[in-house]
Amino acid sequence: MASDRVLNFSAGPSALPDSVLEQATQGLLNFANTGIGIAEISHRSKEFLAFLDELESLVREQLEVPQTHRILFAQGGGTGQFAAVVMNMLARDVLLRPNLAEGEERVLDYVVTGSWSRTAAKEATNLTETVPNVRVNIAVDAKNNSADGASYDSLPPHSAYQFSENPALIYYCENETVNGIQFSKAPSDDASGEELNKKDETTFPFHLLPKNTLLPLVADYSSSFMSRPIPRLADHAIIYAGAQKNIGPAGLTILIVRQDCIVDVDAAVKLSRSAIPVPSILSYKYLADGKSVPNTPPVFSVYVSGLVLKRMKELGGPKYYEEFNRKKKEKVYETVKEGEKRGVFRSKVPEDKGGSWMNVVFEVVGDGAEGRFLKGAESKGMKGLKGHRSVGGIRATLYNAVTEEATDALVAYMKEFIETETQ
Ligand code: PLP
Repeated sequence: MASDRVLNFSAGPSALPDSVLEQATQGLLNFANTGIGIAEISHRSKEFLAFLDELESLVREQLEVPQTHRILFAQGGGTGQFAAVVMNMLARDVLLRPNLAEGEERVLDYVVTGSWSRTAAKEATNLTETVPNVRVNIAVDAKNNSADGASYDSLPPHSAYQFSENPALIYYCENETVNGIQFSKAPSDDASGEELNKKDETTFPFHLLPKNTLLPLVADYSSSFMSRPIPRLADHAIIYAGAQKNIGPAGLTILIVRQDCIVDVDAAVKLSRSAIPVPSILSYKYLADGKSVPNTPPVFSVYVSGLVLKRMKELGGPKYYEEFNRKKKEKVYETVKEGEKRGVFRSKVPEDKGGSWMNVVFEVVGDGAEGRFLKGAESKGMKGLKGHRSVGGIRATLYNAVTEEATDALVAYMKEFIETETQ
């Protein structure tokens, strides 16, 4: 592919592998030897439906999704799911417990560790404010444990979490893309995993959750999906991710939904006023019954995502990416630390306090220094390093498609910048 491609460190839509983009170019002209381009072919053609099946298998196989869970494809992105998870899980709760005892409520527990989980909690509040017997509980808000009490700079200690006894939903965001905060990866769901979970404050506190075999646990994996294996995947009710970070172009949302969360939302509404009427497009049953094509899916995004996932599988899947991404983030955090010692950089989320593997955030210290850093990066062909507009600073995004060479180029530039600034 053209050598004038920049090194793209954007948090999304993000870089995609050059080899996949070359293949996708061919597919735009001729998809699966049909002589019709992917953007032109019917989503009900046997070729497209076979491709969609393959996409599902690629996700199932690589993440080891058990048969207890369905894989569904939707539109509407993460933002659509902020609403969908509330509506479907409330309907599920109503069907499980149609009649509440006097004073009993349906509680939606939110773990807030940054701006995306805060936005999701806000959506839940908006949707349920006037709904009888439903309440949003902020199980923890990480900003209350931050240095200034107002921003997000680390994961909260496990002692700060206050989960409800029998919630209808427990929500968290695995990687906060804007704030650069991510739950460290706990080992698998074995006994030693539980022990380590107790000791390591940067793991998601699975050991504090209510003891329930069908946990209503919902996770937003938008910006870390497929970047490493998902710990305790089987314990989740719903895992969702927009494609536009590690997987493909925007438009496709991937859902992993436990079978008991695919419920008749209309029946729930008839049963209790605690259930909210659900537009068909947000109903998991509607999606599942329609085999993820109840209406026209985002065909191009599905196509490119399939190509990316095939390539991932050839390389070794999430386990391969775990090592690959670990190496990249270690190099960048190391250099931020070096710059911090020299008074040039300031880490916003230390690596050992929940620093994200995917989005490394830091500040460049001094008058006009951030502008100099960004300008210098741009002159070397590196783009997308400016932090999110709501928090400022620098954000180096290291999704799967960011190569080791690109990371090395960034690190070399950061080192060079430290030297020039301290001369
Ligand atoms: N959740 C996370 C973690 C995100 O990073 C984003 C977007 O960047 C969203 C949700 C919102 O996703 P969308 O833009 O697909 O609605």
